[in-house]
Amino acid sequence: MEQKQGRRLVLFPLPLQGHINPMLELANILHSRGFYITVIHTNFNSPNPSNYPNFTFHSFPDGLSQTEASTNDIPSLLLHLNTKCVQPFKECLATLISVASEEPYTCLISDGLFHFTQAVADSFKLPRVVLRTAGASSFAVFTAFPLLLEKDYFPIQDSRLEEAVIELPFLKVKDLPTMSTRNPEKFFELLTTMISATKASSGIIWNTFEDLEQPALDLLKKQLCVPLFSIGPFHKYNSAISSGSLLTEDKSSISWLDTQPPKSVVYVSFGSIAATSEAEFLEIAWGLANSEQPFLWVVRPWSVSGAEWLELLPKGFIENLGGRGHIVKWAPQKEVLAHVSVGAFWTHNGWNSTLESICEGVPMICMPCFSDQKVNAVYVSRVWKVGFQLENGKLERGEIEQNIRKLMKAKEGEEIRCRASKLKEKSLSCLKQGGSSYQSLDSLVSHILSLESFSFPAKS
Ligand code: UDP
Repeated sequence: MEQKQGRRLVLFPLPLQGHINPMLELANILHSRGFYITVIHTNFNSPNPSNYPNFTFHSFPDGLSQTEASTNDIPSLLLHLNTKCVQPFKECLATLISVASEEPYTCLISDGLFHFTQAVADSFKLPRVVLRTAGASSFAVFTAFPLLLEKDYFPIQDSRLEEAVIELPFLKVKDLPTMSTRNPEKFFELLTTMISATKASSGIIWNTFEDLEQPALDLLKKQLCVPLFSIGPFHKYNSAISSGSLLTEDKSSISWLDTQPPKSVVYVSFGSIAATSEAEFLEIAWGLANSEQPFLWVVRPWSVSGAEWLELLPKGFIENLGGRGHIVKWAPQKEVLAHVSVGAFWTHNGWNSTLESICEGVPMICMPCFSDQKVNAVYVSRVWKVGFQLENGKLERGEIEQNIRKLMKAKEGEEIRCRASKLKEKSLSCLKQGGSSYQSLDSLVSHILSLESFSFPAKS
């Protein structure tokens, strides 16, 4: 650890896998810069404190019912979290800061989607710094939503899907980041509230880097009028950092990859939330089998409707692959993507997956499901050109087979692979001394230290 800063930071992650991972990675980065770390978390999807012996953890009862906690309706879950956590979070924070501490609490770093924390932090006169766990380009699209609403893009009409969104570069109507929810108007409300709470914060930390998202970062700097710190990719600061996985990582993923030829394997994972229908699941299975390419496929338990795990696969499916396919419930993804045998990532383009793939130079087949994933897929395929979208967005075995062959065997795939390896270099050089993320982290540390005057008093 560098010289101690003598300051304690309170971090509050949103309890979803794609948000917990970057928050804990950020905790590690700031700890290595000399800050003491306290993590407040909900009982729901609680991280494992024993993986982080250097941090102090405090949990509180979030009051979510079983139904609320297990819903696939993410906007509704976010609404519940932003309502039910207010009081217990406030009490937890009050208890923490009322106890005299060796190190004064300097600021709260909370997930951008926990918008209620801005008012709570204000009530304690504790500065709040926001962590945005998604990309800057998708955030810039969200900030354009009021304009898009005014221009009648919503609700999205099927007849306009292929139309360009003239207000936003690169996007077609079908790429607009919507989410299926019982409360569509609440989704817009959530975004508006999230953006205004972000604007009221003392700064925004991004898990991205300038070479990747400079135009969006420049735009947001002007729009938000808050200091921005693009210090990503977080997970590349320290290769030995602990896993924040909520599910057990199946290490057989790595021993199986060890038996495969270099750059031959298609790694398939759609993150921690996306689900498939029975028909889609079978098309994926046959597309992978017919591609004749080795594959490592993550199928989360209960992620296929009507099935606990693999029971919908035809009898003998796995045996007939002759060892060419390996299916696990959860993989050590970062390790998988860094493995020499992996040649492509068929992904839903969650921001973490997208960035993790970029950092290993692994080209992508994009199959975004909802929200920012759609924008990320546009940037991967049309802007950075390190992957392509599953043709016509069709989840059909013939299309899948063709797309895999295109990426693994065709000239087009070779060009994509070449661009991906150049982008990988940029993702790593920004962390080196003098690189953009390195400098931005220095600025973030100075910024946090400049908030000192708001610190709570140390014990007398
Ligand atoms: N992940 C993992 N093992 C898996 C699948 C995913 O460790 O089998 C991790 C992945 O490395 C990433 C996170 O889970 O850090 C998923 O976040 P992302 O933003 O990609 O998608 P989300 O789950 O939020 O849709």
